[in-house]
Amino acid sequence: MTLTPEQALEQAALAGIHCLRIPTPFAVGRVNCYLLEDEPLTLVDTGPNSGKALDELQHQLGRRGHSIDDLELVIVTHQHIDHLGLVEILVEHSGAEVAALGVAAERLAGFGEEAEREDAFAVELMLRNGIPQEVAFALKSVSASFRGWGSRVEVTRPLGEGEELALRDRRLQVFHRPGHSPSDTVFWDAERRILIAADHLLPHISSNPLIARPLDGSAERPQALVAYIESLRKTREMPAEIVLPGHGEPVTDHVALIDERLARTERRKEKILGLVEERSRTAYELAQAIWGNVAVTQAFLTLSEVIGHADLLVNEGRVREADDGEVIRYETTG
Ligand SMILES: [Zn+2]
Repeated sequence: MTLTPEQALEQAALAGIHCLRIPTPFAVGRVNCYLLEDEPLTLVDTGPNSGKALDELQHQLGRRGHSIDDLELVIVTHQHIDHLGLVEILVEHSGAEVAALGVAAERLAGFGEEAEREDAFAVELMLRNGIPQEVAFALKSVSASFRGWGSRVEVTRPLGEGEELALRDRRLQVFHRPGHSPSDTVFWDAERRILIAADHLLPHISSNPLIARPLDGSAERPQALVAYIESLRKTREMPAEIVLPGHGEPVTDHVALIDERLARTERRKEKILGLVEERSRTAYELAQAIWGNVAVTQAFLTLSEVIGHADLLVNEGRVREADDGEVIRYETTG
C-alpha cells in the first residue's frame, strides 16, 4: 500500500525525522530541511543565508523544544545555496560538526572563489553554445547577486560513498548520486526504508541536471544528464517506502516517479533529434525552438537541458557536435 504524503510525514516524524520548511528568495519556494531528533541532534540542510530563513529555522526548532544552539551535526546534501546558506552561522552558534561528501569538501570550503569559477565556466559554456553575449553576461550578474544567500562550509565529517553514518537511533548509509549537482548525496535508512534524497528526486518538478564544474576541478564539461540518469537508476532499485525531497511533499512511489522522469527524458531526446534532423542547430537555437522566450530568461537552465539530451544522442551515435572554433552545432551523423 502506498502512503499518502501526509502519512509519510507522520511516519517520518514517528521515526524522529521532522520536515522544517524554510523560506528562500528563489522561484523554487521553500526548501525542506530535516531535523533528526537523535544523538547527535542533527539538521539535514539549513536553508539560505538570510535573516528570514534564520528566524524561521529558530522558530520551527523552537516548536520542537530545540534551539539553534543545540544542534550537534549539520548534514549538507549538495552544493546549492538554498540548502546550505546558513551553515556557517549555525556552526558559529552551536559548534555543530558538519558532514558532507568528502570529495565535495574543497568545493564547499572555497565557496566565494568557487562560485566565481562556476560563473566563468557557465559564461564560457553559454557563449560556446550560441547564447548571445549580453544574455550570458546578464545571467552572470544575476548569479553574482545571489551569492550573498550562500556561505562557505567547513566540512568536519567528510563522508565516503557507501559509508554508514551512525546516530544513536539510526544508521544512515551515504550514497553519492550526482546529476542535479555534482555533489548530490542521499542518506538511506535501510531499517525504516526512508531515503533522504534532497534535490535528487523532487515530486512536482524535475530535478534539473544543471551543468556544473566537476568536483575534481578538471576543466572538462561533465555530462550532467547522463550522470543523473545513472543515479536515478540506482535509486530506482532501492526498496524505499518514503523518499524525503528537498522541496515539496514526500514521494511514496519513487519507482513510478523515476519511470515518469525517464520517459520524459526519452520524449525530449526524440524531440531534439527531430529538430536536429531538420537542420543543424546550436543548443541555444534548440532551446528557443522548444521553449521560446524562456530560453532567454532561463538560458542556463534550458541550455543544460538541451545539452544533456544532446549528450545522450551523441553517446548513442545519432548526433555529433560540429565545432567551427566559435560555436558548437549539433548535426545528425546519418
Ligand atoms: Zn539543488
